[in-house]
Amino acid sequence: MNIKKGKYFYIIITIAIIFVLNYFVIPSLFGDKIEEVTYDQFLTDIANKKIKEVQIETDTIIYTLKDHSIPKNEKPLLFNSVDTANIYKTGIIYDPDLVSKLYESGAKFAKVQEEEISPLLSLIFSYGVPILIMFIFWKFLSKQIAKGGFGGNAMSFGKSNAKVYVKAQTGKTFSDVAGQDEAKEALTEIVDFLHNPKKYAAIGATLPKGALLVGPPGTGKTLLAQAVAGEANVPFFSISGSEFVEMFVGMGAAKVRDLFKQANEKAPCIVFIDEIDTIGKKRDSGQISGGNDEREQTLNQLLTEMDGFDAKKGVVILAATNRPDSLDKALLRPGRFDRRIPVELPDVRGREAILQVHAKKVNISDGVDFRAIANATSGASGAELANIINEAALHAVRCGRIEVEQADLEESVEVILAGYQRKGMVVSQKEKEIIAYHEVGHALVAALQKNSAPVHKITIIPRTSGALGYTMQVEETEKVLMSKQEAFNKIVTFTAGRAAEQLMFGSVTSGAANDIEQATKIARAMITRYGMSSQFGMVAFETLNNPYLSDDTSLMCSNETAAMIDKEVIDTVAKAYSKAESILKENMQKLNSIAQYLISKETISGEEFMSLLNM
Ligand code: ADP
Ligand code: MG
Ligand code: ZN
Repeated sequence: MNIKKGKYFYIIITIAIIFVLNYFVIPSLFGDKIEEVTYDQFLTDIANKKIKEVQIETDTIIYTLKDHSIPKNEKPLLFNSVDTANIYKTGIIYDPDLVSKLYESGAKFAKVQEEEISPLLSLIFSYGVPILIMFIFWKFLSKQIAKGGFGGNAMSFGKSNAKVYVKAQTGKTFSDVAGQDEAKEALTEIVDFLHNPKKYAAIGATLPKGALLVGPPGTGKTLLAQAVAGEANVPFFSISGSEFVEMFVGMGAAKVRDLFKQANEKAPCIVFIDEIDTIGKKRDSGQISGGNDEREQTLNQLLTEMDGFDAKKGVVILAATNRPDSLDKALLRPGRFDRRIPVELPDVRGREAILQVHAKKVNISDGVDFRAIANATSGASGAELANIINEAALHAVRCGRIEVEQADLEESVEVILAGYQRKGMVVSQKEKEIIAYHEVGHALVAALQKNSAPVHKITIIPRTSGALGYTMQVEETEKVLMSKQEAFNKIVTFTAGRAAEQLMFGSVTSGAANDIEQATKIARAMITRYGMSSQFGMVAFETLNNPYLSDDTSLMCSNETAAMIDKEVIDTVAKAYSKAESILKENMQKLNSIAQYLISKETISGEEFMSLLNM
């Protein structure tokens, strides 16, 4: 339907609605039915002393009757049924005797002073304002309809709610992002381009239209994009892929269109699409596409928009994802997101820097050693490190301190890694002993093997995560490679808890469940991914689907091979277990003495442990 043709039709309908409301519906709704009578009827009523009260206004007289009996012309009006009329009105006629007539009849009467509203104003209020409101509503409606036609998009209310950020609003700059030097360098170029596009144009260079920030969750991708906006000092349109998911059918594409329209008007500017994987997933070839049509439309619109605008204009598109593997290839083609900026997990220096950045926000004591905390948090993301600082501050408050100290940070590392201490949980003496031997078993075997990380702390205070005890090992230096020997030693250490229980108490408990899982995982990876099996050699049976999610793998091998792999995993873990057992057997005395000490102290440090071991 063409909205333009219907324009006058709508206006007429609107006026008709207002008219009906004003004259019929509203009066009938609001109780008092006013009936107009002739002046002589009024005089007759006075003469018959039927009148109770009279209000004399500027040019009307309004009156009520004493008894509610039915007056004159009994014809029912449209809405006023006969017996509901209880107020009467008539026009004013020059009548000098009126006052005395009224007085004689015994009616109460008064002249009512009307508020000073000019006739023009009252006209505006009673007609102008409603018409204006209707007009605005109609404008709004027709715009929505025009945007999508009457087809599936009639409901596409609301413009893109992409937020516009300018510098003052994100308030983030590169100084808020610690580490990530390579990513910052790549983004600096973009900032520079937005500042002086002429410099690039003079040489004939064009910047990529889009840059994709890829990296594991919590590494600061969103933060980096906000920092770019802050540094470039240009409008920053940001929208998150997940917002598209919540929308009505047909809105995704409209939103993308609108976003780019706004961006084109405001160029130079930055468009940031966070979590782009939610809309940019591969368009499945085999599957029935029924449920995904919506997403596909959105993605297609995005591709069209990216092709449609001129990079020289100064619109830069940034996007972030932690699932680059799942993105549709079309998005990564030249002319779209052809530049990838990796945002990796921080190394030890990066972690220290991130801790320092976030420590500025809290009151921290001078002696704190961030390097030690960075050492203990290998593999932690920026978001986790930020969380560690915050937890430490909360812990300090709980302890009634006004400064965050090393102990708070140490505790908070454990909270992030293993959950809160479970203070209320009561562990029986017998269980406490089992847990202590189990943990010391891990620690002893770790310490007595070459190539394994030093013990940092042992505790048998339960954690909310479910861990009953906890042995923390911290590498002295950052490790990126694991030798076959180290991998095997790790499995040995994992099995040592159970081995200590078995040796000491002659029975086993469920407490080793997590150890068993970890040991199995390593053994399996050694065979299927690291090429550390003498039986199979350098063959990959398992591939990592997503480099940022180490659990997301798929197995590709025949059933026979799968059975052989299982067999080798079982053998490897069994071999590790017997190694752990023999190490502990040779050191039964140490196991006993350290376990007893741990039972009395509940938590012992790495140094205490080493001095007991070397006694
Ligand atoms: P992502 O988008 O990669 O999942 P975010 O940018 O949302 O991660 O990061 C979450 C939070 O973690 C940030 O708000 C910030 O407090 C902290 N953070 C992450 N990386 C860094 C970093 N390199 N420097 C400082 N803070 C960081
Ligand atoms: Mg993010
Ligand atoms: Zn264990």
